[in-house]
Amino acid sequence: MSKWVYAFGGGAAEGRSGMKNLLGGKGANLAEMANLGLPVPPGFTITTEVCTYYYTNGNVYPADLKAQVSAALTQIEKIMGSTFGSIDNPLLVSVRSGARASMPGMMDTVLNLGLNDQTVEGLAARSKDPRFAYDSYRRFIQMYSDVVLGVEHHHFEDILDSHKSDHDLTLDTDLSAEDWKTVVAAYKEKVKEELGRPFPQTVEDQLWGAIGAVFGSWMNQRAITYRRLHDIPSEWGTAVNVQAMVFGNMGDDCATGVAFTRNPSTGANEFYGEYLVNAQGEDVVAGIRTPQYLTTAARQAAGADLPSMEEVMPRVFADLEDVRRKLEAHFTDMQDLEFTVQQSKLWMLQTRTGKRTAAAALKIAVDMAEAGLISKEAAVRRIEPGALDQLLHPTLDPKAERRLLAHGLPASPGAASGRVVFSAEDAELWTKKGEKVILVRIETSPEDIGGMHVSQGILTSRGGMTSHAAVVARGMGRPCVAGAGELRIDYRAKTLKSMGQEVKEGDVITLDGSTGQVMLGAVPTVQPELTGDFGTLMGWVDSIRTLKVRANAETPLDARTARHFGAEGIGLCRTEHMFFDPSRIIAVREMILASDEEGRRHALAKIQPYQKNDFVELFEIMQGLPVTIRLLDPPLHEFLPGNDAEMEEVARAAGTDIAVLRARNTQLHEANPMLGHRGCRLGITYPEIYEMQARAIFEAAVEVARKSGKTVSPEIMIPLVGTKKELDLLKEVIDRAAAEVFKASGTTLDYLVGTMIELPRAALTAGAIAESAAFFSFGTNDLTQTTLGMSRDDSGPFLEVYRQRGIYEHDPFASLDQEGVGELIQIAAERGRKTRPNLKLGICGEHGGDPASIAFCQRVGLDYVSCSPYRVPIARLAAAQAALGVRSDTTA
Ligand code: PEP
Ligand code: MG
Repeated sequence: MSKWVYAFGGGAAEGRSGMKNLLGGKGANLAEMANLGLPVPPGFTITTEVCTYYYTNGNVYPADLKAQVSAALTQIEKIMGSTFGSIDNPLLVSVRSGARASMPGMMDTVLNLGLNDQTVEGLAARSKDPRFAYDSYRRFIQMYSDVVLGVEHHHFEDILDSHKSDHDLTLDTDLSAEDWKTVVAAYKEKVKEELGRPFPQTVEDQLWGAIGAVFGSWMNQRAITYRRLHDIPSEWGTAVNVQAMVFGNMGDDCATGVAFTRNPSTGANEFYGEYLVNAQGEDVVAGIRTPQYLTTAARQAAGADLPSMEEVMPRVFADLEDVRRKLEAHFTDMQDLEFTVQQSKLWMLQTRTGKRTAAAALKIAVDMAEAGLISKEAAVRRIEPGALDQLLHPTLDPKAERRLLAHGLPASPGAASGRVVFSAEDAELWTKKGEKVILVRIETSPEDIGGMHVSQGILTSRGGMTSHAAVVARGMGRPCVAGAGELRIDYRAKTLKSMGQEVKEGDVITLDGSTGQVMLGAVPTVQPELTGDFGTLMGWVDSIRTLKVRANAETPLDARTARHFGAEGIGLCRTEHMFFDPSRIIAVREMILASDEEGRRHALAKIQPYQKNDFVELFEIMQGLPVTIRLLDPPLHEFLPGNDAEMEEVARAAGTDIAVLRARNTQLHEANPMLGHRGCRLGITYPEIYEMQARAIFEAAVEVARKSGKTVSPEIMIPLVGTKKELDLLKEVIDRAAAEVFKASGTTLDYLVGTMIELPRAALTAGAIAESAAFFSFGTNDLTQTTLGMSRDDSGPFLEVYRQRGIYEHDPFASLDQEGVGELIQIAAERGRKTRPNLKLGICGEHGGDPASIAFCQRVGLDYVSCSPYRVPIARLAAAQAALGVRSDTTA
């Protein structure tokens, strides 16, 4: 015989907290509290397996369920000393849902079950309080009719309202026993009128009706939607908890309330909660009456007049404090409690792990570890890495009003407000005038960098999580909402339209890069506070993790930010970003448009001093930590002049005819630049570019090493390699530059030449490539693009559909496609290390900052991950969790 029902109460329970899959969260924890000897009204849980049985067997229950329920009910009667359906001493019960994962408010509940025309009299006599009895009866009729019988709420509200106005009554508490009797009669009449049959008077029918309704509510639309949004499988089912009623509404020595064992918004170790005297639980939630503070300290801090529970019921409050201590010690985490006080006796109705803000999560974990309640490892496991984002950027004031304008991808976290501008130039102009701006573009390109840098935030209507705007904004720590598809941007008119609203240049908008929301007007923000707890936790994180964490950074500001957040080197310096600097862009254009090597060398000679200075600064900031510098990667035409005036400027500088430049410009056009003349192909065709860059790197390294007396460790990285031969040819160029610089300066230093692995061919031929490469860095942005055959810039819209249809569970540009791209990484790592056992392995695509991808990197044995500076703390924490085996069996 299967066991479908688990009893609890009277100081014991058949279940325990570890049985959440079977008993649901509520049932399992009620059992646990009963086992701990806490005052839990006796009851029983009908398991989630019954729910599954019910739905797989055409909505029928297992045959032996009835007998088990009836036996468990007898058990409750024994403990309570009252009888279900008894006329003189009736037992009343509550019937509540309780799934494995909390689904607040999604499913049904029935309270005060067991009342009928006779038992209500028994309850009145025993409680010596007819008003209470009839108040409970009317609550029951209304709730049961709504939840089980399908008679809508408003019928009952109308009746109550007209009774009140007929009798000049305002509040529910103004109604007497006689009033409630009249209301109850009218309620029953209404039910009969609506259903053509009377309100059920048999208590067993009531009970099974309610059980059926709770199981039924598992499949209501609200619950289905909630499950879809929270990835809860429908096979899990819900449990049903039937429990003796205790009453918070029997007089002024009764109350009901909710509490957190610590403050859920700050994490402070203070008891936190609210209660209502003479009320039932739903009154607290309904917000009809103003709840009172639990503690006197909280009441005083809020300047509230109504007395605290600590003041009104000191003895019961002390009992509740005691429960708080026991539950925290037992569950070793902050708990969210529900309780009722019946005639000065405390009853616990629920405990569960409390939801909290990121700041509170951090403080609670650190405090608990320092108090010895949990280990440091447990504290580290407990913090959701992504939640740290909330702590590193300003966030929108949660209390502020929001007027939604559009919705896009949460491309770079943080919140920002500013005046709308539609070009990078305008962003710089307006900023010079002292304005704060939000740069709005259909999409951004490398030449927008300057404007992006001065903007408070970036909004685009096109592009995904690895679009240019998203990557650059994350790198800069600028909030960004990307791919807000409903935006209609008109560059000429300098307007944007969305959701029936128009925004002009200069109008203020607010971005929430953590949610993807765009709001009209300025929404106030709150600044992050990196408290001591943050540092403490990160110290533990660093002692646990084995993966190193580097940053993707090229500007001095980014490099400093990266250091500030604890980066252990630079894993990717994209040198092309340095080419856009206004001080050198003309020379860069001259170089690109030159018709021969001599012309290019001439222009490169102008760029080299700038490049050298860039690297000097980087090496100085990184103080001996490894710096991986990637040689020029993007297709050359990205740097080309955008208009005639710029073209003329280049013509003047190069002393060339503008017509020649135009022709060359056209010649450089590519149909598919992502797969075109970029990456190491530039180095192969124009080795002088890489030669100049290598010289600049070595000259800078020699200079900084000499000045600082520290070792400088350049790691030169070749992009988009597909064959060993490409790498060999380019390594020769680099080694030659090194030899020349060392000879001229009379010093040497150690350096590495390695490659990015960002093409499937490179991954598959990694064994050969490793003969020449000292390190591999997986460029998973391109590797994802080339493995999936999906453009990283254009896949946003259809990938969303793919995600919804379950083809890809996650955006593969945000979280590594472990099955496909991951397999290639694994192959490359194995084959590379077979050739060269000490081959250094890292990742520098966007995935380097994604916790699930970091767990994967740990599993395949990479040495480091590299991510944008603001994600460094997240990556450090995720790396520690990876070392502890968190997420070890998940793919994302
Ligand atoms: C990559 O492709 O993953 C990479 C890091 O290079 P980029 O994003 O600059 O192409
Ligand atoms: Mg790349």
